[in-house]
Amino acid sequence: MARYKIHPLQVARITAPVGVLAMGGDMQTFLVAPVLVFYIEGGGRKIVMDAGIEAPDDTGIVHGFPTEGGGEDGLRAALQSVGTAPEEIDCLVLSHLHFDHCAFAPLFKNARIIVQKKEWETAFHPVPPHRMFFEPSLFRGLEAMDLVLVGDGYAVAEGVNTLFLPGHSEGQQGLAVETAGGTAVLTGDLCYSSYNLDPTRTDLSDLDGTPVPLAPRPDLPFIPPAIHVSLTEWYDSMWRVVATASSRDLVVPGHDPSIVGKVFGEGRG
Ligand SMILES: [Zn+2]
Repeated sequence: MARYKIHPLQVARITAPVGVLAMGGDMQTFLVAPVLVFYIEGGGRKIVMDAGIEAPDDTGIVHGFPTEGGGEDGLRAALQSVGTAPEEIDCLVLSHLHFDHCAFAPLFKNARIIVQKKEWETAFHPVPPHRMFFEPSLFRGLEAMDLVLVGDGYAVAEGVNTLFLPGHSEGQQGLAVETAGGTAVLTGDLCYSSYNLDPTRTDLSDLDGTPVPLAPRPDLPFIPPAIHVSLTEWYDSMWRVVATASSRDLVVPGHDPSIVGKVFGEGRG
């Protein structure tokens, strides 16, 4: 069985209110979070989850969010840091089709591109408040590439399987990845940070090292992001994540500042 390591790679910095990170949070205080792509190393195949965000124009804003970096350069620099490039990737998994996860998928010219069927069907016609998160011009062209629409449990490679995790978007997917430390789960944006996974953990700092003002919520098993299509599905998906991962240390969230530069799955101990 192949054993993989997971490298979260920062492609941009994005600023959002604390109340977007978690429901009920302060909407007047902002934090700086990473936009990430994930390189999954091992097994003889080159697998990446997500494809970056556009660079901001003169306004510094991308889809309503202040953004620094990004663009093709941001994506290439991130992949270069692990010695690869978009054209060398065999398999691109898009966790979902929000603007900060799929912008440069067309650069992955030699990759099979894996999207959940439900995400593809809903991304062109989202629920009205979520229209701002989808930009069809970013993903419409993928049909001319090696796009594969899949369901739950699709085997991306031996030891790398899709998990259908709806709730944040209609067709969000994660990945269950076999590592030397056990099964890791990449959640995509189902789970933005360690606080969403464990609302008693209020020790999160943002990318600038500024502590994020978070209220402990020991009454909740998990705390959802403000951006979600269904809280019922979101909680079901979170329970599935923790049931699938060998430990909570192997749950890899989508925008957590503390995971930049970390490697997941190097082994026990
Ligand atoms: Zn995101």
